[in-house]
Amino acid sequence: MVENTIRLSKSCLSTSEDNAVLDVLHREYLGMGQDVKEFEDQLSQFFSRPAICVSSGTAALHLSLQALHLSPGDEVLVPSLTYLASFQAISASGATPIACDVLSSSLSIDLDDAASRITRRTKAIMPVHYAGSASSLRYVYIFANKYSLRVVEDSAHAFGSYFDSKLVGSFGDISCFSFDGIKNITCGEGGCIVSSDPEVLQNVSDSRLLGVKNDSLQRYAGNRSWNFDVESQGWRYHMSNINAAIGKVQLSRFPLFSHKRQHIVKMYNDLLSRVAYISCFDFYHDNIVPHIYVVSLSSQVNRDHLRDYLLSLGIQTGLHYPPNHLHSLYSCDYSLPMTEQLFPHLLTLPLHYDLTDSDIIHIVDSLSSYSYSY
Ligand SMILES: *Cc1c(COP(=O)(O)O)cnc(C)c1O
Repeated sequence: MVENTIRLSKSCLSTSEDNAVLDVLHREYLGMGQDVKEFEDQLSQFFSRPAICVSSGTAALHLSLQALHLSPGDEVLVPSLTYLASFQAISASGATPIACDVLSSSLSIDLDDAASRITRRTKAIMPVHYAGSASSLRYVYIFANKYSLRVVEDSAHAFGSYFDSKLVGSFGDISCFSFDGIKNITCGEGGCIVSSDPEVLQNVSDSRLLGVKNDSLQRYAGNRSWNFDVESQGWRYHMSNINAAIGKVQLSRFPLFSHKRQHIVKMYNDLLSRVAYISCFDFYHDNIVPHIYVVSLSSQVNRDHLRDYLLSLGIQTGLHYPPNHLHSLYSCDYSLPMTEQLFPHLLTLPLHYDLTDSDIIHIVDSLSSYSYSY
């Protein structure tokens, strides 16, 4: 790797995060306590409804599905073009992920394809807000209503994005966010579940602490439960004060982050119009906070070759995502033509807060200089 390589994605931390973590370390209460409560309260305010903090976005998805009391063999519709975590959360809950195709325009779940996969065992749908765009959400809820399905939104990419004039997470059934190191805000590792369903909220807040009822309230008061009974399977999926302390600072800096991400995407969209072998997607509207910047390459381009070329010029790229129905664990007896046709041509370009305008220009110039007729 050349020096000063432009990273595909990264956290953006300041001395405020440093100080917040040091403060937790000095107080010597590292587990789930006051900082988690404060972060949770701030997130609840952000979404205008209750949020529950957990140890990762994957944990948020897993606990949300578990709260729906799915039985083995129950089915959850999910686009194949998503991070492995969406699929693993479904299988961890005991249910079966049913891989669905995506639309070429939005890279989100194709509801006609999903409708063809409905059975009596279909209990839920997990839309994925690919790159931060939740444009399909209205149809997802109409669809879920029609087939009486629960909706667990994988909103890992969509922190801060709007759908129409509504903030993603502020409405709908259950919405799950990730705060891992590269997401729109980070807390190191973490996630949250947002919902208005009191049963789901109680269930996930207990099951993140091994299923001990109301232990969260004890932890927030600096105590823990000593006398308790347990009625259901839980997990050690709570968030620590260290992570929450980072999250609180990141949330306060979010307006900066979102503005910058939108600016970078606008620059890419403008400048890439002169690169003939690249097509940009038009779902990067002003009302979304983009998590990744994805383009489609024309079929003459050898993607691996291009990626090597860019890396030799100090530019990392990514692939979002190897379709899950092509993994051994989730292989199925049907094909998903659009996913299989699109994925080999998708390429993700760098997108993070610390990119400068000259970085973007360097990336676009490098793409322009690539000669694919060899
Ligand atoms: C990041 C991500 C997750 C999982 O979140 P973690 O916090 O990394 O566990 C789930 N789904 C998608 C689409 C993601 O990008």
